[in-house]
Amino acid sequence: EAKAEGGDHICFFNPDMLNIIAARAAMENDIRIGISEQQFALFYQPQVNSAGKWIGAEALIRWRHPEKGMISPAEFIPLAEESGLIIPLGNWVIHEACAQLQIWSSQAASAHMTLAVNVSAKQFRQADFVDIVLTALDSSGADPRKLKIELTESVLVDNVEEIIAKMQLLKSHGVCFSLDDFGTGYSSLTYLKKLPLDQLKIDQSFVRDILMNPNDAAITRTIIGLGKSLGLAVIAEGVETEAQRTFLQSQDCHAFQGYLFGKPSATLNIPHKTPLTV
Ligand code: C2E
Ligand code: MG
Ligand code: MG
Ligand code: MG
Repeated sequence: EAKAEGGDHICFFNPDMLNIIAARAAMENDIRIGISEQQFALFYQPQVNSAGKWIGAEALIRWRHPEKGMISPAEFIPLAEESGLIIPLGNWVIHEACAQLQIWSSQAASAHMTLAVNVSAKQFRQADFVDIVLTALDSSGADPRKLKIELTESVLVDNVEEIIAKMQLLKSHGVCFSLDDFGTGYSSLTYLKKLPLDQLKIDQSFVRDILMNPNDAAITRTIIGLGKSLGLAVIAEGVETEAQRTFLQSQDCHAFQGYLFGKPSATLNIPHKTPLTV
């Protein structure tokens, strides 16, 4: 590998940086192709109540890459956001999610299920976002009240009044809102009070060590209390063990999502019977 050496001049670029730039450009192009060749798919992960009943699901995007296999969103969503490709990709997600919601509503076992969709800040800020969602609901026939939009605190960096107006407009059609990864961002309590939210989602980083780390337990307790005082539902993500669930439940958290109940999968097989809890 060639390295700029010896000179006393300042070197702005080195081969490593060029490699990174080239790899990003290649992936960006790959995402573009992936969209047009329908390589993206939605997986669904169940959300349950304290009785273990499936009350809804979260849609999580996957990329079935023809050469690289299944790619996780952690690898391509950040690049899609920076490049602007999150707009076509995110709009596809909304249409696909609404179509799935409509299919579930037509089957008795799944008719009650809600579906949560992750929406990037950039996507939510596009001028016609509300129209895109209403069109997807309309053309699929899905019930707006069963659609939940997951936003993160990153949506709150600027133009909060505009964000609130959009949320209110969608809410007037029945769409719900959840604040994802809650506790990891920097939203002030002033904003939190102003936002027309329905749900707070406790980030999995707090759930992971909830039994060992008193700070995580305290944060979780605080979020649950905050939800209660603001009149918001609270759901915990990343629940992997029965012990975590029991602890969360003892803290008054009554909705859960995590590997304990089901991993994200292409098709949801809704249990006929609710598991018995003592
Ligand atoms: P997220 O919305 O916070 O989703 C939760 C992540 O935790 C998912 O990772 C899920 O598979 C994983 N998870 C669920 N249960 C457990 C568990 O019990 N233990 C552990 N360790 N992990 C669990 P995934 O599917 O890789 O998605 C990562 C992130 O990518 C999501 O975080 C979300 O921010 C983003 N993402 C996924 N789909 C979309 C999408 O359609 N649009 C946008 N804009 N972002 C998406
Ligand atoms: Mg999410
Ligand atoms: Mg999350
Ligand atoms: Mg997360």
